[in-house]
Amino acid sequence: MLSFIPKLVLIQKQALDYQLAIELMQEFKAKNIEVLIYHKRIPASFKETFREEFLFNKRVLAISIWQRREFQTCKPSAHYQLPLVSGCPGLCEYCYLNTNLGRRPYIKVYVNTNDILSKAEEYIWQREPEETIFEGAATSDPVAVESWTGSLKKTVEFFSNFNNARFRFVTKYTDIGGLLDIEHRKRTQVRFSINCESVIERFERGAPKLHLRLQAASKVMGAEYPLGFLIGPIFAFEGWREEYEELLQTLKDYLPSDNITFELITHRFTTRAKKIIEEVYPETEVPLDEKTRRFKYGQFGYGKYIYDDKVMLELKDFFTERIKEIFPQSRILYFV
Ligand code: SF4
Repeated sequence: MLSFIPKLVLIQKQALDYQLAIELMQEFKAKNIEVLIYHKRIPASFKETFREEFLFNKRVLAISIWQRREFQTCKPSAHYQLPLVSGCPGLCEYCYLNTNLGRRPYIKVYVNTNDILSKAEEYIWQREPEETIFEGAATSDPVAVESWTGSLKKTVEFFSNFNNARFRFVTKYTDIGGLLDIEHRKRTQVRFSINCESVIERFERGAPKLHLRLQAASKVMGAEYPLGFLIGPIFAFEGWREEYEELLQTLKDYLPSDNITFELITHRFTTRAKKIIEEVYPETEVPLDEKTRRFKYGQFGYGKYIYDDKVMLELKDFFTERIKEIFPQSRILYFV
């Protein structure tokens, strides 16, 4: 099943020098999806309100060329971001992309995949003999558009050729069928982003339900990929211990092995994200009260509101202890 069917497709003229862009154009036209060609800048869509514009752009797919010279760094999950896709069609109210994508959160896919992978190879050799890790989901959920582009498949196969590099990406989507029977040599780690049922119900609109993500995860494990779970954003709401315990127990039921990793990310928000969330989801129940949080400067120069030290410690102790007990072979990569 396709995760995402765009309402409008914008194609950069230069991108049509690449076969993938031509194929995508033909495919969208055949499906009667509106396709527009643009030259340098993605044309603005003028809607009456910010909310209308935001929601409209969540259905827009932009096909373009990656033109930067360098990759961005990507702490704490990898050395570099691998820029295959930016944006995501999901409507998670708390989404971390809200800070950067603003009123035009369209989904952008880059068709010059070979250029991007060649650049990755440069970094790999520069850092040798150190291993270099690339993150494919720093500014996107790349699986949401994988059925259209096949870029992840190509990337996974590319990384299977290296002993000194690894690729990883995280997703809430389940279109992983194209990745199951390909050569990966365990050089790619697939992680699923999960949360307790009440968080998914309340805040993760447009993303697959928990049981579908877990079914996809068990297929990924069956295909012998290294597997991980990102639990986040972790909310300290009333009853959080019981609900996150249930989540961990449910996860256990789906997996034949606990040779997995965990990344644990507590909820945080920026002033900009708060403004956008409140405009787009006026009824939101995402906790956004600065007075209950501690302010912390982040690696990209802007500050964010995180839980205070006492709550952070409670969350950290709970997850560390419960994961150790339920998944003794697993590793927690970080808690932030
Ligand atoms: S799936 Fe991830 S990237 Fe997409 S809207 Fe939800 S939180 Fe954002």
